[in-house]
Amino acid sequence: MRLSNTLSRKVEELQPLELGLVRMYSCGPTVYRYAHIGNLRTYLMADWIRRALEVQGLRVIHVKNITDVGHMRQEVLEQGEDKVIASAIAEGKTPQEIAQFYTDAFHRDEAKLGILPATYFPKATDHIQEMVQVTQSLQERGYAYEVQGNVYFAVSKFTDYGKLSGNIGGDLLEGVRVEVDLLKRDPRDFTLWKAAEPGRVLRWPSPWGDGFPGWHIECSAMSTRYLGEQLDIHTGGVDNIFPHHEGELAQSEGAFGKPFVQMWVHGQHLLADGVKMSKSAANDYTLDDLEANGFDPMAYRYLCLTVRYGTRLNFTFSALRAAQRGLQRLRNRVWEWSIAASPNASGIETQQWRQAFWDRVNGDLDMPAALALTWEMTRSDISVKSRLGLLLEFDRVLGLDLESAVQEWDVPEYVANAEKRRNTLRAQRDYSTADSVRRQLADQGFILEDSISGTRTRPKSELEKRQERWKEVSSSKEVSSLMDVSDGLEFSVGIVACNYMSDVQRCVNSLLPLGDRHPMEILVVDNGSTDGTSDWLEDKANQDSRVRVIHTDHVLGEAAAKNILLKQSLGTYVVLMDTSIEATEDFLAPLARALSDESVGIAGPWGLLSGDLRHFEEIEDGQADAIQAYCFAFRRALLSEVDLMRESFRFYRNLDLEYSFCFLDRGYRNMAVGSLPLQRHEHRVWTSLAEDEREELSQGNFRRFLKRWGHRQELLLEPGRDHNHDDHDHH
Ligand code: AMP
Ligand code: ZN
Repeated sequence: MRLSNTLSRKVEELQPLELGLVRMYSCGPTVYRYAHIGNLRTYLMADWIRRALEVQGLRVIHVKNITDVGHMRQEVLEQGEDKVIASAIAEGKTPQEIAQFYTDAFHRDEAKLGILPATYFPKATDHIQEMVQVTQSLQERGYAYEVQGNVYFAVSKFTDYGKLSGNIGGDLLEGVRVEVDLLKRDPRDFTLWKAAEPGRVLRWPSPWGDGFPGWHIECSAMSTRYLGEQLDIHTGGVDNIFPHHEGELAQSEGAFGKPFVQMWVHGQHLLADGVKMSKSAANDYTLDDLEANGFDPMAYRYLCLTVRYGTRLNFTFSALRAAQRGLQRLRNRVWEWSIAASPNASGIETQQWRQAFWDRVNGDLDMPAALALTWEMTRSDISVKSRLGLLLEFDRVLGLDLESAVQEWDVPEYVANAEKRRNTLRAQRDYSTADSVRRQLADQGFILEDSISGTRTRPKSELEKRQERWKEVSSSKEVSSLMDVSDGLEFSVGIVACNYMSDVQRCVNSLLPLGDRHPMEILVVDNGSTDGTSDWLEDKANQDSRVRVIHTDHVLGEAAAKNILLKQSLGTYVVLMDTSIEATEDFLAPLARALSDESVGIAGPWGLLSGDLRHFEEIEDGQADAIQAYCFAFRRALLSEVDLMRESFRFYRNLDLEYSFCFLDRGYRNMAVGSLPLQRHEHRVWTSLAEDEREELSQGNFRRFLKRWGHRQELLLEPGRDHNHDDHDHH
């Protein structure tokens, strides 16, 4: 088997040190949070390597460490950076209980994805002794030194440092994690053992006094304990290469004086909706999130098969939907053929297919090609028993658990009877009655599928049930633009709704009476609501033709959701409203009056003024630098000039600044229109967030705003003026 070796930067043939046995180590999960699907992609890569080796007759000892509380930094706990931990501790749970909770969740996720359990799942806290031993060896061999109970790895002593990543430690990545440590002789040196500060609970005795291990040492210690001093394969995500794996390599080769790992294999990252996954972008999806959206976890495995491990994979829900369809079709093949024949792949006709499959798998794990070949094979003219046999054989590597499709579904008796009745009707050529039986079954939640070898009835999948309710879009790209279509009404009032149903109801209901005075439409993007808001909106739209709802299949970023509104609006004036606002009377007429002045860009009741682009003061009347998103109106004709919103703004905050400046940039004036009959209620999207979340979410957007507009002070009405009311502090 050939794999891309990060160490040699080449695709190389794996040559296990011991014939027939592969020693493999995978950097495993940090268990004070759920694994996100990016982490799981990296574990899937290791699983495909392992399966491929095992199916080809090698024995694999696979170690996947669990980074539990041993390494969990007390600082992280104390700063409350991790809300989950902070709240668990507040609930009186111990760090061990938290770690156990997430360890269990991790094992469940792996099982759902068909990832084979590692031979060993060592926990860091169970191996402190081994970490101390490796550290001692390093000290004895002159690669480590002690300062006041801390032990550091002396990077300058290990001449090979940097051979894995090409990074010789110049950029001091450790400094990002921990504050710069003045006890180090060389800033590149990294911690092997750290003295426990007074009051620290998680501490262990050592020859250097009580303390706790550094970041990289756990993997050197646990790999040696279970696999010996030399490994054949070591896997992880690309972010592990430096400093983690560079550190591991230096430690293990320094301590044992032998090449540590033959083949370093790193998986490229998973992006979500085109950007890096992160908490603050709210796109660090978990497997539970996918299931909550009606997906089968195996569809995610299938999706990961479609992109090579060395290539970044952009996760989208529409790609996942396609993957689930592909998976369902493969399952259907298995079911269909297993009725007709028993699997048997021993025939001569299977040889070429098998060879081609392994060429792809062994060629640096080209799983997309292996999957494509599998599909080609299913459509080939070899016998059904060969096709079924090969499909199940290939699936030992693919891991999609296709065999489970062989089993018939357990359906209630009335369903089985209906199926028989339909068969009889069809035999009598009464197709229309037969069809009504099928429709009836569909209403009862069952799908009838015909194939060459017979008929079966299966319960609808969660995804199928969801998709029947209404159409859902996955991104703004899927929505067509009406920008070039001429005005159809006076007003398009646009709302983005995500839960907080009573707010949505209040807002929409307050707008409806205005429809008697103005030709208008109320456009709502139902942005992944899960609390019944979707149903309420759907009903409303069915009752009232002025209300139009576009449902999304997950929570889109704020700019993306608003872009859907902008693209779909048909009114002369577009009015974007927040669901915390209630109209008490006609506020549209005064807005239209303000906007009839061709020099005005955005008009709205709540404006902002700034002298420095950092502090903003709220004003209620007159010209403003920006208009707040609570209510924000402009002429639709201007859309082609200012363009849609930047979708990198996933959180709502500061998007209004950004978009206001687009109008200023085009030479328009933004106007606060005072005392409109609008009532501002609690802005629950904001008040429901914890202080640290607000900070984190706002800051990213503020940085984006400043990056683009920070040097454009001249756009401000009064540059340099000191607006000392910081009541609307945007950074
Ligand atoms: P952690 O739980 O943070 O230690 O990460 C577990 C594994 O997931 C490591 O091997 C990481 O390199 C990998 N990983 C982290 N983020 C991503 C991502 N976005 N895509 C793929 N793998 C990732
Ligand atoms: Zn590791």
